[in-house]
Parts: sequence; C-alpha cells; structure tokens
Amino acid sequence: MGACHWCEYNELCGGSRARARALTSDYMAAEPHCVLGEEVMNRHLRDLAEKEKAMS
Ligand code: SF4
Repeated sequence: MGACHWCEYNELCGGSRARARALTSDYMAAEPHCVLGEEVMNRHLRDLAEKEKAMS
C-alpha cells in the first residue's frame, strides 16, 4: 500500500485500492489521489524511506 501503509490515517482511509489499480496497475500501490494532498503524501513517503533506511 505504499505510503498508505505507514499513514497515520490508514485505519480511517486506507486509500482507494481500486484507484491505485486503475492508475498504476498495482492495487497495492499508494493511493494516487491522496485526499490529504501531495504535501502530506510526500511527507508519508519521506517517513517511509526513513523507516526502511533505519531497518536496513
Ligand atoms: S490516501 Fe492518503 S490519507 Fe488515505 S491512507 Fe493513503 S496516504 Fe493516508
């Protein structure tokens, strides 16, 4: 679920799996049209990268 997996609003939102599939061909991709906007999505992606870096 990309950034949606780490999103603090995941349990409320989760992102649209249908929209992710339609626009990226990957239903597990991050929601392409995050309701919180690009700035929030970019913050989630940065947080995800930092978490993955810390785990490696
Ligand atoms: S679509 Fe946006 S608000 Fe919803 S879970 Fe994904 S990152 Fe979070």
